[in-house]
Amino acid sequence: MEKLIFATGNEGKMKEIRMILGDLDYEILSMKEAGISADIVEDGKTFEENAMIKAKAISKLANCLVLADDSGLEVDYMDKQPGIYSARWMGEDTSYDIKNKKIIENLEGVPEEKRTARFVCAVAAAFPDGRVITKRGTIEGIIGYEQRGENGFGYDPIFFLPEYGKTTAELPVEEKNKISHRGRALEQIKEELKLMKK
Ligand code: IMP
Repeated sequence: MEKLIFATGNEGKMKEIRMILGDLDYEILSMKEAGISADIVEDGKTFEENAMIKAKAISKLANCLVLADDSGLEVDYMDKQPGIYSARWMGEDTSYDIKNKKIIENLEGVPEEKRTARFVCAVAAAFPDGRVITKRGTIEGIIGYEQRGENGFGYDPIFFLPEYGKTTAELPVEEKNKISHRGRALEQIKEELKLMKK
């Protein structure tokens, strides 16, 4: 079976990815399983560019199909920040408790209709012959007034889904994965890869 490497060091992501891509005709490997380690500078201007930079760099090293993702939170009232800088925003080592409190503070007194935000995820697939495709998934929500929930990670405790009456940190992980930006981008890539195999 052909190999597919997902360019992440995050075990949680790998679990989610295996669940979603499991029915593809590829052997899915993490970077660790493929014996690859690389320090890649993500200097793209968009989620898609960053995902492509990662996927291409690893594909060159591994000489097989490589998938990579880049994701983040866009807060409309903050001119779509932190965006592609979501992990680095306020400093990589700053806790999400502090980051989340800062976003709530930035939106103090802002009415609900202006608290719109979205999680964005771009997934890139780089083929050994140099071709690259990207797909984007999003999930729309609003910034809550307080942090709620223990599941998930990062900005989940402030990302409120009005139709569920819950933040993404209050949803069970499997339920979040079904509707998440990453899940949606991966589903699209999967369909594309299936078509290419035909
Ligand atoms: P990366 O794509 O792994 O580089 O993640 C970028 C950053 O975006 C994460 O470190 C989080 O700050 C944020 N982020 C991306 N997806 C999510 C999510 O599903 N929940 C909460 N935060 C997220």
